[in-house]
Amino acid sequence: MATDYDAPRKNEEDLSEDSIEELKARRAEKNSPSVDEDEAEAAEGFELPGADLSGEELSVRVLPRQADEFTCAKCFLVHHRSQLAYEDQGQLVCSECAA
Ligand SMILES: [Zn+2]
Repeated sequence: MATDYDAPRKNEEDLSEDSIEELKARRAEKNSPSVDEDEAEAAEGFELPGADLSGEELSVRVLPRQADEFTCAKCFLVHHRSQLAYEDQGQLVCSECAA
């Protein structure tokens, strides 16, 4: 009886260990593509200042900030001042992100 009790218990432990390892593996798999995305975004960001010199289209896409507008530090969207929720160390946060 004692051994019967022990056997399933060990299996459970093995199972949970396996799933943790699986989760870790899945996480690692998930992480690598997102790192690639970050790198792609960073590359785009680096290209912008240089491209600014030649193309006006890019500066139109970036949307110049108006005096009564601000760029949210969290969603990076330009909002009207009325949507400004708070300012944290010079970083303006819109009401959507503050909610
Ligand atoms: Zn925001």
